[in-house]
Amino acid sequence: MQQILVQKFGGTSVQSEENRNYVMQHIKNALMNDHKVIVVVSALGRKPDPYATDSLLDLVDFPKNYNSSRELDILMSCGEKIASVVLSNELKKNHIRASALTGAQAGFITSDDFNEAKIKEVKPNRVFEAFKEHDVVVVAGFQGQTSDGDITTIGRGGSDTTAAAIGAAVNAERIEIFTDVNGIMTADPNMVRAARPLDIVTYTEISNLAYQGAKVIHPRAVEIAMQAKIPMRVRSTYIEDEGTLITASRIQELGTDIPDRLITGIAHMTSITQISVQTKDETDGLQSEVFKAMAESGISVDFINISPTGVLYTVPDSQTDKAVRILKTMGFYPEITRNCAKVSAVGAGMTGVPGVASKIVQSLTDAGVQILQSADSHTTIWVLIHEDDVKVAVNALHDVFALNIAEEKLV
Ligand code: ADP
Ligand code: ASP
Ligand code: MG
Repeated sequence: MQQILVQKFGGTSVQSEENRNYVMQHIKNALMNDHKVIVVVSALGRKPDPYATDSLLDLVDFPKNYNSSRELDILMSCGEKIASVVLSNELKKNHIRASALTGAQAGFITSDDFNEAKIKEVKPNRVFEAFKEHDVVVVAGFQGQTSDGDITTIGRGGSDTTAAAIGAAVNAERIEIFTDVNGIMTADPNMVRAARPLDIVTYTEISNLAYQGAKVIHPRAVEIAMQAKIPMRVRSTYIEDEGTLITASRIQELGTDIPDRLITGIAHMTSITQISVQTKDETDGLQSEVFKAMAESGISVDFINISPTGVLYTVPDSQTDKAVRILKTMGFYPEITRNCAKVSAVGAGMTGVPGVASKIVQSLTDAGVQILQSADSHTTIWVLIHEDDVKVAVNALHDVFALNIAEEKLV
């Protein structure tokens, strides 16, 4: 059989007929290169477009009137289903042999963690069956079904993961993620004007950047492609540029021994609350009590700092009230700082290089940004700041590491 290419188109790419004409062109190019194509689609557009995921959620007053996560998945899965049929219909009008499948029909079996289901298995028999009569199979992203037949969705931004998982299941030649920016960039281009597209990056660098908030690709998608050893490309729907190649080794692709970049990019995440719980005396067990209570209530904690008389940590703003209620019931008086942001400098090349953290602190201080907390690993340095400072902070770090300049121009 011919090689299979997976092409995923995000919400803005399939938003209007005009945008879908660009989509059509990419699919036609792949067919001309003698591929069979699995096209994965997101829901059409962004809120207030009527069939965008957030618009569907508004129909049931989510999150105010949220009651059944199982039913929410029935609702949310409709956006991608609609998109798959709209695109398949337009492909047929263009004389392309196309067929649409829901996630369940394409073989996605998931856990029953509604709204955040985990893909357990993909059985692509029906996709192969469809390829006997068709050249393009359009699969609705972001969804699957449990082994009992309940419809599930796999977490926001999950259509990228659909693309990677189906690519792995059919052993695709490549997985292409088409979006509204020109590839993976050194920072969110909506935040940093000088941000520059990266040409070749490793799976590890990008899953790190994605976990820290670079929403251009879902981190789970990168991990699945990495395990299956399938190269990915992230590129713009609207221009011909090749965008960013994600692969195992930059050296192998470039053919030269270019070391890892010190810093690959700057990512940011907003809507975070810092919580401080202090006691006057050194109370045995405070730390474990607090974190046990958070875990039992399903509250995800981050940025944990522990001292003999207290703990400092962060939670998403959406979980602050719940966390505070629990802490008060336990007899603590937490201090909270809402509307914080986490800014991360990510790069495999910082391992063992002295002075990276001090450069970060210096540049933020010079820019007048107050650092509320910080942490580091061998590939990432994180700072917690006030959300109002996020643009200044991301730009300051982008500047201090000269990320606007391509590395070959730096040597
Ligand atoms: P899609 O609907 O195509 O999946 P998303 O909105 O999920 O698109 O992701 C694309 C967006 O990701 C861009 O518009 C950009 O604002 C944002 N983004 C955040 N960080 C980065 C980055 N490092 N590089 C490129 N885009 C980024
Ligand atoms: N439509 C879903 C969302 O908005 C999935 C996706 O776009 O990837 O999160
Ligand atoms: Mg996305």
